[in-house]
Amino acid sequence: KKYVYLFEEGSAGMKDLLGGKGANLAEMTNIGLPVPPGMIITTEACREFYVHDRRFPPGMEDQVREMMTVLENKTGKRFGDPENPLLVSVRSGAPVSMPGMMDTVLNLGLNDRTVEGLARAADRRFALDCYRRFLHMFGDVVLGIEHARFEHILDNCKQRRKVTYDHELQAEDWQQVVAEYKALIERETGQPFPQDPFEQLFKAIYAVFNSWNNDRAIVYRRINRIPDDLGTAVNVQVMVFGNLGNDCGTGVAFTRNPSTGDRELYGEYLLNAQGEDVVAGIRTPRSIADLKEEMPSVYDQFAATCELLEKHYRNMQDIEFTIERGKLYMLQTRTGKRTAQAAVKIAVDMVHEGLITREEAILRVEPAQLNQLLHRRIDPNAQLEVIARGLPASPGAAGGKVVFDADEAETLGNQGEKVILVRTETTPDDIHGIVAAQGVLTSRGGMTSHAAVVARGMGKPCVCGCEAIRIDYDRELFQVNDLVVKKGDFISIDGATGQVILGHVPMIDPELSPEFQELLQWADGVRSLGVRANADTPEDAARAREFGAEGIGLTRTEHMFMAVDRLPIVQQMILASTGDERQEALDRLLPMQEGDFYGILKAMEGLPVTIRLLDPPLHEFLPNAEELLVEITRLRLTGASEEEIGPKENLLKKVRALSEFNPMLGHRGCRLGITFPEVYAMQARAIFQATARLVSEGVKVFPEVEIPLVGEVKELAILRQLVDEVAEQVMKERGVTFEYSVGTMIEIPRAALLADEIAREADFFSFGTNDLTQTTFGFSRDDAEGKFLHEYVEKKILPENPFMVLDRAGVGKLMRMGVELGRSTKPDLLIGICGEHGGDPDSIEFCHQIGLNYVSCSPYRVPVARLAAARAKV
Ligand code: PEP
Ligand code: MG
Repeated sequence: KKYVYLFEEGSAGMKDLLGGKGANLAEMTNIGLPVPPGMIITTEACREFYVHDRRFPPGMEDQVREMMTVLENKTGKRFGDPENPLLVSVRSGAPVSMPGMMDTVLNLGLNDRTVEGLARAADRRFALDCYRRFLHMFGDVVLGIEHARFEHILDNCKQRRKVTYDHELQAEDWQQVVAEYKALIERETGQPFPQDPFEQLFKAIYAVFNSWNNDRAIVYRRINRIPDDLGTAVNVQVMVFGNLGNDCGTGVAFTRNPSTGDRELYGEYLLNAQGEDVVAGIRTPRSIADLKEEMPSVYDQFAATCELLEKHYRNMQDIEFTIERGKLYMLQTRTGKRTAQAAVKIAVDMVHEGLITREEAILRVEPAQLNQLLHRRIDPNAQLEVIARGLPASPGAAGGKVVFDADEAETLGNQGEKVILVRTETTPDDIHGIVAAQGVLTSRGGMTSHAAVVARGMGKPCVCGCEAIRIDYDRELFQVNDLVVKKGDFISIDGATGQVILGHVPMIDPELSPEFQELLQWADGVRSLGVRANADTPEDAARAREFGAEGIGLTRTEHMFMAVDRLPIVQQMILASTGDERQEALDRLLPMQEGDFYGILKAMEGLPVTIRLLDPPLHEFLPNAEELLVEITRLRLTGASEEEIGPKENLLKKVRALSEFNPMLGHRGCRLGITFPEVYAMQARAIFQATARLVSEGVKVFPEVEIPLVGEVKELAILRQLVDEVAEQVMKERGVTFEYSVGTMIEIPRAALLADEIAREADFFSFGTNDLTQTTFGFSRDDAEGKFLHEYVEKKILPENPFMVLDRAGVGKLMRMGVELGRSTKPDLLIGICGEHGGDPDSIEFCHQIGLNYVSCSPYRVPVARLAAARAKV
């Protein structure tokens, strides 16, 4: 079996076998770009490695040796030759990009003899510098000796020599460091550093295969939902050197600005530096624009190559390059990660440039990413106490308590605290802390540093390279000049400007950019699924409409009952002991509800509005029994009068009488309508009086009255009749006619199972997948997530939290059945969804597949849903 490919034997289409990096190196080689020659050991070899108890598959080693001969012939150098040594880099490359997640070894092939050959061919100081780098990386990555141990030796050497920077060290110093590194390795492993280049090579390949299952790779895959069984390829590539002098360098660049999407080369480089120096954030690098001044011809060649790569891949590229003695080499290209803002702009621009189609543009933007664009930013009119400024690494503004440790950020974040993770720089080991933080602030590193790349990927605000802040981890504080900011102090950061601000700042809502609007219009042209919003107030309704909602799919009327000025009346209604008393309360609520519905219907002029009649268990409107008891006890202890205490005790009695063991399975939804028809009648009247008023004012409105929690057709039949009667009365009283419809939520399994019967009484269905998930699984929607569901997901018992991503297998099966049965009775039955899943891209795709008419979600997710609905279609 072929386990090893030369670059020229591969292509971009072979990512699964050759990994992303290898496949693109192959592609670049084949289109004639300057790529140092190399070979790729396949992901299949890695998978077999794991099958065979972490042993190389038979034949792989021989193939590596053979290919090494080919590389020797191409370069005229020999692997391990003391006169003219061939050196290689060994890097991982998974099929899906996992930046910084696995390890790299550079300058492999050096030993005590070949280092002399390299010194003769180039320069002694340079050769020893390469050797110590190799010993360090090999010691760390392959032999598992802590990175800090090597750093410590280096720091000591610098101290002895009284210098600050690596480049101030001389050849003799490096000689000394090399000797100490070798001694460290021998001490730690009990064996001398391996001098045989092939032994080095196979150990490095082994380590890369192994790194597929290191902790940070596993965490990264879990967060990004990458399967665990893909395996990684290994790229073995001839070294070129960016650290041979000042006509050399290394850098990374994006073909367009990954933050804004602007069409400009964007990146950073370091002169006289090697490999990881740029991304590691060790020295703060220079902007790629400076290269134009410094090496005009290299810059021109680089710019032309970038353009060629963009045209070839028809996408923005993220490129690594090295300049060796004034000659440019390409070391990597891949599709560049970008912010949502950039993703939208680049996709739309590329359509205008004729590079991609509209459908491709729609597929290029991940709906989930759009949330970033709908993020808040700092109010430009606010007075800010800006204490420092760093690089604007990932847009959006965030505030939180300062935390210096990723574990602590995770702990506090999971407790619901807002935190900002502050570090000198981040490493892949900090990922879990970044996930839990509102934003990230680093004092070192450029726009392509780890923190910046990761934060942009997650849509987290990030300010990096903020050199004005001096972090003292031991004392858990940072200083800016004389100002001390301690752990727990509140700061805000603005990832679009790089500002670091003391305290809270006022934020404002986002607007949609012209490109975003254009993309969404294309999406509207493609999709067949409608998009509505869940909104309970005229303001929400107006915002939803601005974001492109085509109606309201759910107005929860109970939210209107919760307002402080209404709650006492609602309580009076609930606690009434006579019919008259109840009616009195309802009469007071009627004009208020009418006003609510008037506002919402008017805001949605010309569009349908689903208004749901009262749904939650009544006790939700009542005071808490325990709190009442505490209060009564307190009154007693302070000697309050019976007049004061008596009503409270009465209240407590009623509250207790209304309490239920399982309120979510209790007296709620249409069951309230059945037992307290006057409540539903009042709400129906409020809806229709508002409708009548609007119709006489010439406003076109389409109210859809919705009955929740139906499980039996008779429930719906009774309540529908009640609603129809109220409608008729109002039309008669007001002398106007209007259109309306009456439908039901499908949120109890029985309703889905008997949807053909229920459809007889319903003008529309709307899947309430929050309750449907709760009742299908028998998981409490209020408790399950915190109690055990997260563990179910971790243990892969369930692929996702079913309250966030629709469970297609179970809940979805009921939905599919509900649609088929419902439409068997009424072929044109209008069917939507208004549970949380209506805003989740994966669930939206499923809703499209089973033929729903629309999804309904919160106003801010409407743009996400429009795009997701289009993607489900293309
Ligand atoms: C549902 O159950 O999915 C729903 C939309 O209603 P609520 O969340 O108000 O119960
Ligand atoms: Mg519900």
